[in-house]
Amino acid sequence: MRTKEQLRASQAAYCARHPDRVRATRAAYAARNRDKIRAKKSARRLENLEKARADDLRHRSKNPEKTRASQSKWRNANKEKVRARRAKYNAKNAHKARAYSKAYHWANREKALAYNKAYRAANVDKERIRKAAYRIANIKHVRARWAAYYATNPEAQIKARHLRRARVMNAITGNLKTIAAWEKSWKSKKFAVCYWCSVRVLSRKCHVDHIHPISKNGAHSIENLCISCALCNLRKSASTIDIWNNQIKQPVLL
Ligand SMILES: [Zn+2]
Repeated sequence: MRTKEQLRASQAAYCARHPDRVRATRAAYAARNRDKIRAKKSARRLENLEKARADDLRHRSKNPEKTRASQSKWRNANKEKVRARRAKYNAKNAHKARAYSKAYHWANREKALAYNKAYRAANVDKERIRKAAYRIANIKHVRARWAAYYATNPEAQIKARHLRRARVMNAITGNLKTIAAWEKSWKSKKFAVCYWCSVRVLSRKCHVDHIHPISKNGAHSIENLCISCALCNLRKSASTIDIWNNQIKQPVLL
């Protein structure tokens, strides 16, 4: 009978003589018992979680390249998990996430704006629905913003009113770009001449007037627009051209 020590010594001698065989045997065992080994490892890790975490951290900080590569590989292989994890984190840290995305937006503003523009161009209908829903949900806020905008841009408000009136009356609406170009051309000069009374007035005090009132089926188009001094515009109001012609010195022939 060999003693325990003798047995151990002979095993050690065998291992030293046949390292390849030992390696092969171990690999075969590992392949056969993969789940068992994994369970054992994970149990051991749970038992010493603090230490395991510290070890991991040390390993990662020592091998940043390797860590980055392995993390990126894992992320690529587990896209769903990553997405779910991120969504969960964002939901839990909504404030932080918003601040982060804001900071990202400002750091990459050009890129973000170009992306948004391309998205809007590709999803016109979707955008229309989204905007309408936003307006309905935030009507007070939207109104306040428009009011603030119009307070500093009164001309824009007048233009918007014309357009709205034209829409409400179902008027024919001409090319808005042509109208804008026409307005810009005479407003850029200091003086303009009133179409009705022929008086030269500061152009910034002139109004855009509809020759045939929109409320009387006039169109909101370049052919039906004229420059009017404030006084004529107010006096004319929504009169038809026949009635209005009786009130001005030089009747306009149309
Ligand atoms: Zn006038």
